[in-house]
Amino acid sequence: MDGESDLSDVEVRAPSAEVWRGRRVHWQDRATWFGALETWLEREWRSGGKARLQKRKLDLCWDDSDWLVALDRHVQPSIETLIEELADDLANAKLRTFHGCRVPDAGVFHREGLRRNEPAELEALARRLVAEDDDLAWMRPKIEGIIAGFEDRERDTGRLYGSADERPQLDRSGQYLLFGSEWLQCLLGWGAHRALKRYGTPTVVEVDLPFDWASKGTRREFARHLLQEWTRVFVMGETFSPALDFSVILLRDIPAEMVVGHSHPRVLKNPFVQYRTERTANPTCPHCVGSAKA
Ligand SMILES: [Zn+2]
Repeated sequence: MDGESDLSDVEVRAPSAEVWRGRRVHWQDRATWFGALETWLEREWRSGGKARLQKRKLDLCWDDSDWLVALDRHVQPSIETLIEELADDLANAKLRTFHGCRVPDAGVFHREGLRRNEPAELEALARRLVAEDDDLAWMRPKIEGIIAGFEDRERDTGRLYGSADERPQLDRSGQYLLFGSEWLQCLLGWGAHRALKRYGTPTVVEVDLPFDWASKGTRREFARHLLQEWTRVFVMGETFSPALDFSVILLRDIPAEMVVGHSHPRVLKNPFVQYRTERTANPTCPHCVGSAKA
């Protein structure tokens, strides 16, 4: 019976699996996961394998998968088995996740949480933007036709996107912070970029996400990154924290209690114009102003 085998599995694996229970894992802050992963790995080494790995002289780029090949030689299970087990155990952890967007007041996330893509809501926002911003006056006679003819209307329906590392959003994929929802960008096109950039303030929302809300495939990919980076740092010693381009797609809303903070980047890079630096005119929002006064 499945239930029985699951139970014995839990009993055998419990001591190391427990290191992830309730733990907040933040890729950029190695203190949140490096030691935990070392503890988790303790039962997996071949005899003397850990010491031998540390003495290896490896000259590899941080994202070279040969780090995992090196680890594989010194542990008992195959690396794929380790990744699978870690993906299962990470279901007990929380992943610090970042969501980049533009909003007039980030307080809405602290009050209401984050909602999945809902085309009807975005259509309403598009109508409002076109009605209120004279830069889009030329679009007023045809906005209903644009909405009715939008072939990609369902492109992101029911989805919510997050990232395990905010740095790529500031550096390589700043378009969501500069111009807001990709759905709106696709609907309104390039001609609306200036208006979209005037709406709201670039905002990065921070969420402590129960990692079992992400798919097993997502956890598996993240487990692979963690093991690879752990090996690199274990061999090389303390070094820089590489920016990781890693997306998490959710199929449910995030309640307000999981939103742990937000920030407004002062500087972004525009991927549509050779990563030109763009400064945020007013990197604050009513929620920040209210918190400062309180
Ligand atoms: Zn704010």
